[in-house]
Amino acid sequence: MATKNTYDCAKCPGYCCSYDYIETKPADVTRLAKHHGVAVDVAREKFTKQVEHEGETMRVLRHRKDTVYKSMCMFFDQTERRCTIYEGRPAVCRDYPNGTTCGYYNFLKFERKHQGDKDFIPSA
Ligand code: SF4
Ligand code: SF4
Repeated sequence: MATKNTYDCAKCPGYCCSYDYIETKPADVTRLAKHHGVAVDVAREKFTKQVEHEGETMRVLRHRKDTVYKSMCMFFDQTERRCTIYEGRPAVCRDYPNGTTCGYYNFLKFERKHQGDKDFIPSA
């Protein structure tokens, strides 16, 4: 029997999409290129950038300034608070949060209950 998720992304402002290092592997860049109907080189340049993180060189999704968090993935709709490229999103986004619970959602739920405000957004 499938276990039910204990988080609800529709009630979250999309914290996971604010992470600075959303990694894209070559297969992700190819998927992004197909999704947008552009060449792989174009997708790599337009949607990703190379960074150094914890001693490793990696390619991550580009960001833009956000109204809730400091910045968000460039593919995040800041009004609807959701991904605009759901079918084309990288593997790491597909896998997250790797289980039936999301740590940030638990934190959000706890803070909202504590504050008595169902829309409260704590700074992470
Ligand atoms: S932080 Fe958790 S609850 Fe919020 S959008 Fe991401 S996976 Fe969903
Ligand atoms: S591609 Fe979509 S799911 Fe992944 S970080 Fe960006 S907005 Fe979030």
